[in-house]
Amino acid sequence: VSRFEHVKMAPPDPILGVSEAFRADTDEMKLNLGVGAYRTEELQPYVLQVVKKAENLMLERGDNKEYLPIEGLAAFNKVTAELLFGADNPVIKEGRVATVQGLSGTGSLRLAGALIERYFSGAKVLISSPTWGNHKNIFNDSNVPWGEYRYYDPKTVGLDFDGMISDLKVAADGSFILLHGCAHNPTGIDPTPEQWEKIADVIQEKNHIPFFDVAYQGFASGSLDEDASSVRMFVARGMEVLVAQSYSKNLGLYSERIGAMNVVCSSPDAATRVKSQLKRIARPMYSNPPIHGARIVANVVGDPVLFNEWKEEMELMAGRIKTVRQKLFDSLSTKDKSGKDWSFILKQIGMFSFTGLNKAQSDNMTDKWHVYMTKDGRISLAGLNLAKCEYLADAIIDSFH
Ligand code: PMP
Repeated sequence: VSRFEHVKMAPPDPILGVSEAFRADTDEMKLNLGVGAYRTEELQPYVLQVVKKAENLMLERGDNKEYLPIEGLAAFNKVTAELLFGADNPVIKEGRVATVQGLSGTGSLRLAGALIERYFSGAKVLISSPTWGNHKNIFNDSNVPWGEYRYYDPKTVGLDFDGMISDLKVAADGSFILLHGCAHNPTGIDPTPEQWEKIADVIQEKNHIPFFDVAYQGFASGSLDEDASSVRMFVARGMEVLVAQSYSKNLGLYSERIGAMNVVCSSPDAATRVKSQLKRIARPMYSNPPIHGARIVANVVGDPVLFNEWKEEMELMAGRIKTVRQKLFDSLSTKDKSGKDWSFILKQIGMFSFTGLNKAQSDNMTDKWHVYMTKDGRISLAGLNLAKCEYLADAIIDSFH
């Protein structure tokens, strides 16, 4: 008998489990709209040209594989903060940002979870309802209590702005408010610039601490600056802000696990102390981060030619998703005779679309139509091509009625 008899079977991950089920399906029309990974029009994974060029450069230079410092590659930390806040942002010039390289978005959020647990005992992190499934796991494992604020309004398939504002108002003062910088996952619904201002007003009034998760900079609108505007507006107000970054989507570096945790502090002294504690948290967790992805980012962002090529490729990826989004909307509007208003699809941004399909309807999508998706009704448009839009529209209409 095993000493591990008491270890129970863990449930499959709701997002990564979808890909496993997809692989087992042999139907020709099958579609994987579960995981948020970019695909080409041929539905193949895509390695960016600028990534290949940066990797070639790295090989030619014969870069070594020595350990990085705990906080990561200095050249990466510099460019990642500049990309996020803008190179001439006073918070950078004044040395008020603590930046450490993290294990992509997830690992960076986890570092912040540990920091909050250690230094803000009892403070809650408020996450949107709904949110990316892993947020709850991360704060649970960090022993950080979390609550939810209203975000999604099923009636309009839009933002429940009043619900959100009133939940931020009733939350205990000094709560951490987790916000998606752009391209909210899973809904694809972002506040308007005016709504962002009001959200910032309430957060300031309540002494809350804004905590941004930026997993799609440049990938939502196609513009790095536009997608960072929410974060920059909060920073421009002089607030202390936490920001987790990921290069999984915008540089297609999913498996390289490259991202960063940034803490904007009101003084350089506080930033130095916060950074020292982030390093202290990282050391026993994974000692120091991997170098490959950090070098790719540093090479791409640090070289004006590669940087421009990256922006072009990002516009291409974001553009393909927008085209597919439009075609899906057109197909649904033409095929559906029920008079349902599908315009919400066009209002959403980024990789995902929240269809409003419930669990039973999402099951029908998979069981009858071989369309794999998460059971909250989210579909990843990055896994869709023009050729399959009509088929998907048929599946969605059938599942709704
Ligand atoms: N936050 C959000 C909202 C995301 O959608 C993702 C990617 N699915 C992440 C964080 C982090 O992903 P990664 O760890 O691959 O950077």
